[in-house]
Amino acid sequence: MHPFNFTIEQARAALDRGEITPVELTNKLFDRIEALENRIQSFITLDKEKALIQAGYAEDSIRRRIIQPLAGVPLAIKDNICTEGIRTSCSSKILENFIPPYDSTVTEKLKKQGCILLGKTNLDEFAMGSSTENSAFGPTKNPWDITRVPGGSSGGSAAAVAADLCIAALGSDTGGSIRQPAAFCGVVGLKPTYGRVSRYGLVAFASSLDQIGPITKSVKDSAILLNVISGPDPHDSTSAHLAVPDFTSVLGQEIKGMKFGVPKEYFIAGMDKEVEESVKHAIEKLESLGAVPVEISLPHTEYAVAAYYILATSEASSNLARYDGVKYGLRVESDELIDMYMKTREAGFGAEVKRRIILGTYTLSSGYYDAYYKKAQQVRTLVKQDFEKAFEKVDMIVTPTTPTAAFKAGEKTDDPLQMYLADIFTISVNLAGVPAISIPCGFTSQNLPVGLQIMGKHFDEETILKTAYAYEQATDWHMRKPEL
Ligand code: GLN
Repeated sequence: MHPFNFTIEQARAALDRGEITPVELTNKLFDRIEALENRIQSFITLDKEKALIQAGYAEDSIRRRIIQPLAGVPLAIKDNICTEGIRTSCSSKILENFIPPYDSTVTEKLKKQGCILLGKTNLDEFAMGSSTENSAFGPTKNPWDITRVPGGSSGGSAAAVAADLCIAALGSDTGGSIRQPAAFCGVVGLKPTYGRVSRYGLVAFASSLDQIGPITKSVKDSAILLNVISGPDPHDSTSAHLAVPDFTSVLGQEIKGMKFGVPKEYFIAGMDKEVEESVKHAIEKLESLGAVPVEISLPHTEYAVAAYYILATSEASSNLARYDGVKYGLRVESDELIDMYMKTREAGFGAEVKRRIILGTYTLSSGYYDAYYKKAQQVRTLVKQDFEKAFEKVDMIVTPTTPTAAFKAGEKTDDPLQMYLADIFTISVNLAGVPAISIPCGFTSQNLPVGLQIMGKHFDEETILKTAYAYEQATDWHMRKPEL
C-alpha cells in the first residue's frame, strides 16, 4: 500500500510504529499532488513550507509519545474556512488576496491535535453551486472521469480525498455541499447537526444552514474528525452546549432491530435507474444486517428546493453585503463612495454570486417579503415537522444522496434551475438541521460512484455513523480507487 492511500486510522498506526515519519508522509503527498494536480485541480493554495514545519512538530510529539489523534496526518481544508496566515479566497476574486489574521475554530482544533495542513481546496464561489464550476480559479475535475464534475460546492475537498492527494479533508454543507461531492467522488461525507460544529471562521453563506464537516476515505475517519471539530464555542452563539460523545466508540455495534425509514418521495421519476438500483441493493444489505425498513413519507420534500433557494439567497444577500471594498479584500478605486462600492462588487463577484444577491435582495424587499421569505420560512417549519413525525417511527432515514451520478462538465452551467435541482435529496436535511452522511454504495456501468445517504435525529450522529460503518464493513465499494 502506498502511504498516500492511507486513511487517518492507517496513517496514525504507521506513524506510531515509526514506519514513516510525518515529514516523509507530507513529502509523499506533495509528490503526488505535483504529479496529478494539473489534471484534478483540487487545490487553490498549497503551503508546503508551513506543512513541513507542522510535520516537524508532529515528529517531535510522536517521538515524545504525546497522544494526539491527528499527529502527523496531512489534511486539506475547503477554502471558505479561515486559516491564519494562509489565503482564504472562497474561490472569489473579491477575496483573492485575503489572508485571515486568525484561525477558524475547526482549524485551531485540528492543529491542536497535531495535523498538517497541506493547503486550501477549490469550491464554487462562496460555496454557491453544485459542481465546483463557479470558481474564479477554474473548475475541479472528477478523479473518476475528468470530463465530469466532482460535485459541489466542496468539490476540491472531495476530489482531493478521492485522488489520494490528502488523507482527509473538511468541507462545508449548506444544502448538500459535503454529501453531494462525496457521492460523486466515491468518498464519505458527513454534515453534522446544525450547532454541533462551530461556524466561527467559516465564511458565511447562509448562516442558518451552514455547517462544517469531514470528507474522508472511511466512516471511521469521519468519526475521528468529527470528534476533533465538534463542541460548543464561545465564538459561535449557535454552537450547541452539549457534551460531545466519542463518535468512534459506537462503530462496530450491531444495527440489528434498528428501524430505518425509506421515504417514497426520494424515489422519483426522472431519477437515474442505476442509482436507484444501487440504493435499493444497499437497503437490502442493511436488512440483511438486521435493520428493519419502514416506508415513510416526507410530504413537503417537493417544496424544499424552492424554499431553500429563497432562504439561502436571502441570507447570502445580507451576509455578502460586507464585501464593499472597505473592510475586506478587493477594492476598485473611485472618487465617489457609492461608485467605489459598485465597481468593487461588479469586478469582485462572479455571475452566480450576483444572481443570488439579486434574488435574495428581491425576496427580502418590502412588498415581497411576505410572499417569498416568510412563506419559505413557513415551508421550512413544515419540512422540519416532516422529519419530527418520521423520527417518531424510525431511528434514521435512508435515501439516495443524489438523483444521478456525476454529470458532465458544462452540462448544467447554462441552466441554473437544473443545477439547483441536483440538490433535491440533500437540501431538506439542512432546512431541518438534522445530520446526514453519504457513503459509497455502488458504481454505474460507466464506473461512476453512487452515494447512499443516511439521515439521523438532531444530535444523533452516532446512529448514522454506526449504521454507515456496519454497511461499509459488509461491502467493498469504499476500497475502489479511480485510475489516475
Ligand atoms: N448546491 C447548493 C447551493 O448551490 C448547496 C451549496 C452548499 O451546500 N454550500 O446553494
